[in-house]
Amino acid sequence: MRNVLEAVVMREYEELHAEMRDACGCPQCREDILVCALNRLPPRYVATLTGEVLAEVRLEADQGRADVTVALMEAFRVVGGGPRHARSPSTVP
Ligand SMILES: [Zn+2]
Repeated sequence: MRNVLEAVVMREYEELHAEMRDACGCPQCREDILVCALNRLPPRYVATLTGEVLAEVRLEADQGRADVTVALMEAFRVVGGGPRHARSPSTVP
């Protein structure tokens, strides 16, 4: 069992981060942005490897992809506004 959104969010993150040159790319910020985006999205679980591929293809084609992009943009904004690499450890906003 796996949440296919993880793979989709990570791929979208790489694409978005390449475009956002002022966004911090350190491991802490990357992790915070991924967690923040995933927490904003409803999980999409699949059972098998085959189902995983099918679900990803479907996600690419439907509204899910746009939702992922929106959630990531918001995560970049939230984490970029108060990056944890710059202050003492705390929970993700
Ligand atoms: Zn950082």
